[in-house]
Order: sequence, then structure tokens, then C-alpha cells
Amino acid sequence: MKKMTLVNLESLLSKAKEEKYAVGAFNATDLNTARGIIAAAQQENSPVILQFAESHSKYISLEQAANMYLNLAEHTKVPVCIHLDHGESFNTIVRAIKLGFTSVMVDASLNPFSENIQRTKEVVKIAKALDISVEAELGIMNAEDGSGSLDYNMMDDTYTSVQEAEKFVSETKVDALAIAFGTVHGLYKKEPNLNFNRIKEIQDCTEVPLVMHGGSGLSSEEYQNSIANGITKINYYSTMSYEVTNGLRDYLNNNDNAFLFDVDTKTIELVKNNIAKKMEIFGSSGKA
Ligand SMILES: [Zn+2]
Repeated sequence: MKKMTLVNLESLLSKAKEEKYAVGAFNATDLNTARGIIAAAQQENSPVILQFAESHSKYISLEQAANMYLNLAEHTKVPVCIHLDHGESFNTIVRAIKLGFTSVMVDASLNPFSENIQRTKEVVKIAKALDISVEAELGIMNAEDGSGSLDYNMMDDTYTSVQEAEKFVSETKVDALAIAFGTVHGLYKKEPNLNFNRIKEIQDCTEVPLVMHGGSGLSSEEYQNSIANGITKINYYSTMSYEVTNGLRDYLNNNDNAFLFDVDTKTIELVKNNIAKKMEIFGSSGKA
């Protein structure tokens, strides 16, 4: 018997918003990482979002990722949302929906405001008919691959505007909104300077679940303050990827006789431990 507990983003985040915690959204470009993420969710009895970023297509195709994610979701008891992260083209978004993703992100934030609304509305119309959730983004963050270099002193200009957020949410009816309030994608090169008040202002006037992108490398206090002000989904990947790689390097330096399956097993364990700690900080442990 299948124990599929595939859910959409809206159902995960409405509970998180009510109970004031955040659900972690984790990228996986290979089976071992995905298994580690699911193992953490099971150990912590936590809901989880497995997500595929369109920019990771150079490492694994959308189709391969979908098969892998769906298979894992079928064999676990915790609620799993399968989400397309940073869907850039309409084509990819529709392919993800067809493959069984339960949530998609429209990333049109680099377009002018009215075009962002237009492109998001197109996706919402299709997705809602199929009970699939939609996340959109407003405001400017660093490049998705972490390569950009926004000037931290100028970041205030790039934060999501409260007025725009209100208009955007009421016109598009998205289920979740990614906002810019000082986080950056990739690893931080300087101390982040987060504007928690901006999260609260946007939350108060939109009431939509808010998403933190660039959730790597923050302190526990920064995560928890963000959640207290309205963040309910945290995208966390770069730090995990970096720390697990370092852990594997140590392991290989100390185990001359390791075989590839030992590396697989070690990867799963390192990912699981890394993610489980984050679930505790985000408050999603025990919320499955
Ligand atoms: Zn992002």
C-alpha cells in the first residue's frame, strides 16, 4: 500500500502560519541528498518541501528530479510538497505541473511590476484549477547561483515595497510570496543586515504566507525573528551543500578504503543531520 502524503504548498503553509513556524524547502540534485532530506523529515516528524530549481537543470533534468521526489514522497508518512523553485519559463512551469509537482514558483521578479503580475496570473489560472499552489517573488535578491554581488549598503532600495506587495497579492491571488528584506542567495560574503520590520509590514497588509529565499548562513535568532514576523517557508540549500561537502572531505581523508556506497551512506547521514537541525530551529519538528 502506498503511504503517499503529497500535499500542496498552500496546505503546508497555512498550518505553519497559524502555528508560527516555518517549513524548510530544500533543493536536491541527486538521490542521496533527497534521501537525506526525507530521512530528516521522518526523524523529526516534520513536514518538508523538496524543491527543484530550474537553474539546476544542468545537473539533473526536471523529469529525473520529479521521478526521484515522487518516489520518495510515496514511501514516507510525513507531508511532502514537491515544488518547482524559480520557474523562469512558462514552459518549465507547465512541464512541472504535468509531472506531478504540487507547487510551482513563478520567477518574474526581474520584469517590470505589471509584467510580473501578468505572468504570475497566467500561472495561477492554470495551477489553481489543478489544486497546485503558486509562489511568486517581488523585490530584488542576488543571482540564483549566488554569483551576484549586491551592494549591502544599497540594499534598502531593493527591499520589497509594502504597497506593491499588497497590490500584487490582491491581483494575483498567489499562495505564497517571496520577499526581499536583506537575505541573499548563496553563501554570505558579509554579515547580513535583515529588515524584520519589513516582513511584518508586508505580512500585516497581505496576510499571505511569506517566503525567505537565501536562507543559508543565518543565525538561529535571525531565522526565528523572521518567522515571528511572518516568514513561513525558508529556502535553505547553499550552506548545507557546502557543509556536507566538507564533511565528505573529512570522511574520505580518514577512510582510505571507502567504496562508493560508503560515500552514498555518508552523504545521506550528513544531509540528514544538517537538515534535522534546521527543522528544529524553524520549529517544524513534530508538526507533521
Ligand atoms: Zn531563491
